Amino acid sequence: MKKTSIASKSVLWLRAYVFIIFLLVGSTCRAQKPYEGKVLLAVFAHPDDESTVSPILAKYAREGAKVHLVVVTDGRYGTNDFHDHKAGDELVVTRREEMKCAAELLGVELIHLDFHDQLRAAEGYDGHVPHAREMIKQLNEIVNRLKPDAIITWGPDGGSTHMDHRLVGASVAQVYLSQDWDKGVDLFYYGTPADNIDDPEGKVLRGQASKYLRTKVPYTDEDLEKAAKSYRCHYSQIDPTLTEEDFMERRSKNGKYVYLRKFEAPKSDSNSIFE
Ligand SMILES: [Zn+2]
Repeated sequence: MKKTSIASKSVLWLRAYVFIIFLLVGSTCRAQKPYEGKVLLAVFAHPDDESTVSPILAKYAREGAKVHLVVVTDGRYGTNDFHDHKAGDELVVTRREEMKCAAELLGVELIHLDFHDQLRAAEGYDGHVPHAREMIKQLNEIVNRLKPDAIITWGPDGGSTHMDHRLVGASVAQVYLSQDWDKGVDLFYYGTPADNIDDPEGKVLRGQASKYLRTKVPYTDEDLEKAAKSYRCHYSQIDPTLTEEDFMERRSKNGKYVYLRKFEAPKSDSNSIFE
């Protein structure tokens, strides 16, 4: 009789412990996901462009945000000296698969649009301009549908001065500026501090003064590892001898941060351009 009572008391204590542990684990899990309910939208031009910010895409996905990645073009002209891929439809199929692989490893939702690499620039005004207009319309539809809390895209430098990068960034800005968003949406441009660029030409072409890049987002080794693995998915675009360690070293050379410039609307009306 006594034995049974001790046994049942033990069971009760055990249940209490399990319940407390369950509560503790539950609250820890919740505490680890500070951005649950937030929506981040990253918009870039080509499959593999996302690697410029991929550590923080992995970070925000890990921290509970819903992260959507829009890749605008199909990358059909992405030939290089490392591989003998021919430009065209076959490369499009390859790069779509590579992009899917990279998005999955980062933990982000991929929206891969159908625009031609180089946005039909070679076809002149009549080829390019309708294509570019359609891009703005589709981006507008996506932003209105997803209602992100924050958007990240290319800045005016486009990282490498690539025309597609700069036009995608400008198109996202146009979508942003065309509406008075009833829900707060913040727009951020990716940027590189001029101080982190060694060559003088690079400073001019893509460097930005630190006073503009005031959003400095840190990431962890785990995020960086995910980014490195996802970059390897873009096999058709990379030097096969480049290792994940090389990527991590290159990416974090100036610290484990991604620098962003937040778009700021004017705070008041004015009737002159001069103070
Ligand atoms: Zn690109």
